[in-house]
Parts: sequence; C-alpha cells; structure tokens
Amino acid sequence: MNRILIVEDEEKIARFLELELSHEGYQVGKAADGRTGLELALSGDYDLMLLDLMLPELNGIEVMRRLRRSSDMPVIMLTARDAVMDKVTGLDMGADDYVTKPFAIEELLARIRVTLRGRKNAGALSGQTMLQCGKLHMDCARHTVDYDGTTIELTRREFSMLELMLRNQQIVLSREQFIEEVWGYDFVGETNVVDVYIRYLRAKIDDAFGADLIHTVRGIGYVLREEQ
Ligand code: CA
Repeated sequence: MNRILIVEDEEKIARFLELELSHEGYQVGKAADGRTGLELALSGDYDLMLLDLMLPELNGIEVMRRLRRSSDMPVIMLTARDAVMDKVTGLDMGADDYVTKPFAIEELLARIRVTLRGRKNAGALSGQTMLQCGKLHMDCARHTVDYDGTTIELTRREFSMLELMLRNQQIVLSREQFIEEVWGYDFVGETNVVDVYIRYLRAKIDDAFGADLIHTVRGIGYVLREEQ
C-alpha cells in the first residue's frame, strides 16, 4: 500500500484530500506547516508527498530545496493558478509534477498514479546505464547528464524524455510515444506538452552548447541524432 504525505495548511483542503486518498486505499499522513512536513518527508515513512507551496514556517519551495539534499521522494506540488514562477521554481527544485488549485480530484489521483508508477519503472530500469550521443552523456544510475563534461541540470520529466530519446537514437518518436513512456496512460491533457518539454531540452542542450542533436520530423515527432 502506498503512503502519501499531505503538507497543506488549509485544513479544509487537507481533510478533503485525506478523505479522498484514504478512500482510494492510500495510507495518509498530514502536516500543516513546512517544517513538520519536511521532517515527516525525511522520515522515510512515505512514498509520495503532496506539497502546498504557501505554507507557514517553511514555504514549499524551501521544503523542496532541503528535501532534495538527501531524498528523491516523489513530490507533487499544489499551486495557485497564477503562481507560474512557483511552478517553474518547484519543478527546477526537483518536484515531479504540479496540480493547480482548485483541482479536480480525478486529475490529482491520476497524477499520483503516474508519478508512483514512473518511479517504479525507473527503479526497475534494465539495460545500459551509461548513454551517449555525441558529446552528450547520461548516467542513469547516478541520474546525471553532461555535455562534454559540463553538467546539465534537468527536471525529472526532462530527464525521462531525454533518456527515452537516448535509448532510441536515430528513431523518430511520436508525441504519443513520449506521452505513453514518460507520462503514462493516465495522462490527462494535450500531447503538445511534449513540444513544451522538447523546447526546454533544446534550450538546455542544443542552444546552450551550440549542438545539433534534437531534430523535429514534421508531422511525426522528434528524433535524437548526431548530425555527421
Ligand atoms: Ca497554503
């Protein structure tokens, strides 16, 4: 059974989440401030954290930052609709995903399933752990990426997308394949989210290093290959 930690200071939302998640068969713990939330998260007693960003004591971004020093526990952020910067910062800090308040419980449950399953798949990843395309290197075991020795910081989602492309070099992958492999079957939304993440990857790899690795194949999808 999966155990979920809810870190949320609005009691009504916390109680609602506790009820819904218990109903779905999850074991649930709660914290109403960032400091307690971080302590519970670091206890290792939970499989996933739902993290509100506006919290007393320690805000959600700070909780994320401190958590990631020693833990790769999956985190889904609960953010306000207009807090775009918070989402970006939170994802950069290593959050797995976010849900915008007010959220539909079905969407949140879907994202929890996807996030938990994604971690299971990552843990069971077989085969090569060192991947390479030109000067781009990925160490799947250590979860690091570099270009010609310079470290590239990627969010979890960007990492998964790049890993998929590295494992399928020269093969054109469709948006649907990305969604299926990286987001999972429970994905709720538009496949153009793939284009958004491809843009992030291009900015961090091709643009940043003057490389030419990520290619668009019009009407089909994307392919990673080194141009000779
Ligand atoms: Ca709050």
